[in-house]
Amino acid sequence: MKNSFVWHPNTQMKEWTNFDKIVKGQGMWLVDSKGNRLLDGVASMWCNVWGHSKKELINAISKQTKKLQHAPLFNLTNEPVEILAKKLIKISPRMHRVFYSDNGSTAMEISFKLALQYWKNKKIKNKTKLATLENGYHGDTFGAMSVGYVPEFFSKFKQQLFSTIRFPVPNKYRLPKGFTLNEYQNQCLDHIEKKLSKDEKIAAFVMESGAQVAGGVIIFPHGFQKKIAKLCRKYGVLFVLDEVATGFGRLGSLVEYITQDSIPDIVVYGKMLTGGYLTMGATLTTKKIFDTFLGRFNDKKHLFHGHTYTGNPLAAAVAIENLNLYEKNKLINKIKKTSKIFEKYYDEISQIEIVGDIRHKGMLMGIELVKNKRKKIPIKPKKSINKIIFEEGKKHGVYFRTLGNIVMIVPPLAISQKELNLLISGTIETIKSSQKQLLNNG
Ligand SMILES: *Cc1c(COP(=O)(O)O)cnc(C)c1O
Repeated sequence: MKNSFVWHPNTQMKEWTNFDKIVKGQGMWLVDSKGNRLLDGVASMWCNVWGHSKKELINAISKQTKKLQHAPLFNLTNEPVEILAKKLIKISPRMHRVFYSDNGSTAMEISFKLALQYWKNKKIKNKTKLATLENGYHGDTFGAMSVGYVPEFFSKFKQQLFSTIRFPVPNKYRLPKGFTLNEYQNQCLDHIEKKLSKDEKIAAFVMESGAQVAGGVIIFPHGFQKKIAKLCRKYGVLFVLDEVATGFGRLGSLVEYITQDSIPDIVVYGKMLTGGYLTMGATLTTKKIFDTFLGRFNDKKHLFHGHTYTGNPLAAAVAIENLNLYEKNKLINKIKKTSKIFEKYYDEISQIEIVGDIRHKGMLMGIELVKNKRKKIPIKPKKSINKIIFEEGKKHGVYFRTLGNIVMIVPPLAISQKELNLLISGTIETIKSSQKQLLNNG
């Protein structure tokens, strides 16, 4: 696009000199200014639930727009945030209060501040460290980069990040030599237990719930998360779960920590909370946490945090309607069926020459591309993989955004079976026809 002044996210602007202009969204499709239709295989950055231009969601926003567009939660409240908080508490066992913010990263920052201040409020001084898993991702702000440290993204800021204690994660595709998944999982858990039992400084353990998504679609083996929750309880460490990407049905459950049988002290929601229509994050805590923030004003035990748009009523109104639609349409049951479609394609995908591994749960699939199946060497073409797959995907009518050498299939949750079949076969065609370019490392 000539004369553009827009700087795009995570983008080498020299490589991308031209962007297709999306002019409207229709259901699962994005339509560009030339009239081309692209199937939204990324759920518009993993947040779209019902597809685009969903009548009920538009109406919810438009109705609220006529009443109140924004009013602060500083000294005041409003109806949409109250109703939404009640609904969120209802679906989230053991949670007691909702702190609103406007995206996933800040909602995570709030969880760190809550967890660290909790111990201060209790006058326990030395609990100052956060523990976490290698390969996690919690957003792009400084605290979130410190905890969810992906070296490839964040190494330029390493000196400015605070230190955390990081534990390895069992990844079934890349196990250390000589280990079964179960053995390695047990070793990881032993490692965590040893550290938690000795290091009194650990204030909280922070992890994604159910799977690490941006870190490469690493789905936790059965019992892993539950065991960490147990260790946290045993050693008096707060347990913080990030459900920004994995909650609200992405992995097949409305609330993933229920499925994982692991109750957190703090849980964070984002992305699909508003159906993907407006920006909102929510940090939920138990009564145990909340109560330590109570005191006389001059005790200064309250949380010093608040954004201009915290608890925006438009975002809350559309989130309420979004949750109502989950119920009305029995979306979670529907996903359980739709998600089976992925399984039909396992063999066909695995057989592609450059596919090393496929990882799937619920409405999420990651396809890892390798140069050499046996040695599991990631492909590393001269051009960016993302650009190659994106351009090739367009020819097959699909919008892709890859993660390193992993092709992601992250459809809007309410996608029809027919459209999901189209999306997966489009993905297969795209990988096959990109193969030559992907293997060209110039
Ligand atoms: C996307 C994401 C975030 C950050 O959310 P933003 O809204 O992009 O700031 C945090 N945690 C996880 C697991 C995510 O996938």
